[in-house]
Amino acid sequence: MRLTVIGSSPAWPDPGSAQSGYLLEHEEGRLLLDCGPGVLARLREREPWPTVDAIAITHFHLDHWGDLVPWVWGSMYLFGSAQRLPHLFVHSGGRAILEDFGERFGFADMFDRVFTVHEYDGPFVAAGFTVEPHRLPHYSLETYGFRVSGNGATLAYSGDSGPSDALVALARNADLFLCEATLVAPSADGTLRGHLSAEEAVEAFRASGARRLLLTHRPVELALPPGLEQVADGDTFDLG
Ligand SMILES: [Zn+2]
Repeated sequence: MRLTVIGSSPAWPDPGSAQSGYLLEHEEGRLLLDCGPGVLARLREREPWPTVDAIAITHFHLDHWGDLVPWVWGSMYLFGSAQRLPHLFVHSGGRAILEDFGERFGFADMFDRVFTVHEYDGPFVAAGFTVEPHRLPHYSLETYGFRVSGNGATLAYSGDSGPSDALVALARNADLFLCEATLVAPSADGTLRGHLSAEEAVEAFRASGARRLLLTHRPVELALPPGLEQVADGDTFDLG
């Protein structure tokens, strides 16, 4: 499988960068993990309109799903008629959340018009990949990390998470652990944890036994300690 970083910015965009979006490709299909602002424009640099088979959303913070809104408009008004509807996976209860946003942004069923919407409540198959959602602590919002397997390789993607044993379990023995590292220090996040410092991401990586750690969702202004890898928009990685 091949991972392409479409967008790697944190909750606000780094200069010239898109927010969360990670494309996984193998012979059986193409799966987009999260779809934050800027991701659609980046995907359109590759082809006139994205032809992904499936999109999976970790949680409903805007920086992880916001570009689904313009995706609807472009699909409805210009590009969608010749395409199969991409499958859109959201957590249990997510369909009602989409309908609620839809009522405010356009039409209650706007997302159903251009995506085949599914709710996940356990492992699911998307674009030929097996995806295990793991519930993670992220303030008080329902949030998941994804453990994605295909072609004998496994990618663990944290989405957004505070430190926890669940994060370690998500990444257990994965080939690649793509982990957020938003914070300069743990204390910056207050009492209700939502994010990780680079040191906390490294702690989770070491405890997990994963083979390689890639840090993301980190402000460009925050330098990393030596020896750590941070992804940038456009980076690609081959697994398996
Ligand atoms: Zn978030």
